[in-house]
Amino acid sequence: MQENIIIAAPKTHLTWQQQLSMAIRDPQALCERLGLGSDWLAGAQLGHKLFEVCVPEAYLNRIAYADINDPLLRQVMPLGEEALTPHGYVVDPLEEAEHRPAKGLIHKYANRVLLIASPSCAINCRYCFRRHFPYSDNSPSRAQWQEALDYIRSDTSIHEAILSGGDPLAASDRQLAWLVEQLESIPHLKRLRIHTRLPVVIPDRVDDVLLAWLGKTRLQTVMVLHINHANEIDQPVVDACARLKHAGVTLLNQSVLLKGVNDCVPTLAALSERLFEAGILPYYLHVFDPVQGAAHFDVPDEAAQALVKQLLDHLPGFLMPRLVREIPGKASKTPL
Ligand code: SF4
Repeated sequence: MQENIIIAAPKTHLTWQQQLSMAIRDPQALCERLGLGSDWLAGAQLGHKLFEVCVPEAYLNRIAYADINDPLLRQVMPLGEEALTPHGYVVDPLEEAEHRPAKGLIHKYANRVLLIASPSCAINCRYCFRRHFPYSDNSPSRAQWQEALDYIRSDTSIHEAILSGGDPLAASDRQLAWLVEQLESIPHLKRLRIHTRLPVVIPDRVDDVLLAWLGKTRLQTVMVLHINHANEIDQPVVDACARLKHAGVTLLNQSVLLKGVNDCVPTLAALSERLFEAGILPYYLHVFDPVQGAAHFDVPDEAAQALVKQLLDHLPGFLMPRLVREIPGKASKTPL
């Protein structure tokens, strides 16, 4: 068991659950809140029909007013382009349906499994490769988790459990603490990895209740955050990261290379610098997975490789994220 000092989360008047329940979920409200003209509304409504809008206030606060090109807005603003269906952009780009041996469990890579710990997110990112994922078929109850847990128990080659989603931290702490307790009881599991965007979207998610169960697990805990632009890291995010680090959590980041958001060298360099200031190590820079509805974010591989080559001139090696593509059927991510 790790003995770690836990820094108490600051008290604010709204809990993370209240902030989540008050998130903007209507395209008109989003346009009005951000001062976007009515020209954008029809496209926003069309995109919203395909994948609902969801943006909490804590994230909206970091978006510039009346600027359709704001890099954070581009990640959450539904557009008419989402209705286009160009060849090669599909609903399950990573072919995850092939790798589900138990409800809520994906086993694609050797030594590690992924658990869909929550079907929902605190924000709906327009480029999400799971925007069409059948969450309703993959949201196990406690009794149904037994099948996934038995699967992990029976395979001693599995050393790492990855909590994913949706966003796993959108689940209640009671549910997560229970699941982690079950995982801890499997002797061959060594590590717990949590892939989440919630500490970035609503930093108050990193509260004392979360830190209490995270800080006492015997599993080495790694949190892989998902941050695509330096503007996403404001002071509340920095404070949340400090609390996680004091609870013994290793912080890494994975970004997606997105056209119009972060596809230029100064932006990527600023992101790595800002991540490190917040105590997070850049880990992966993913090229976009070709999901239907988000082709307008795609950056061609050659352009991605050229960007990363130039980025080497601006950053020390330890701040360079690895440029990777996930190829269905491969035993690990493929470096580009
Ligand atoms: S938080 Fe992650 S899983 Fe949720 S919509 Fe965004 S990219 Fe997808």
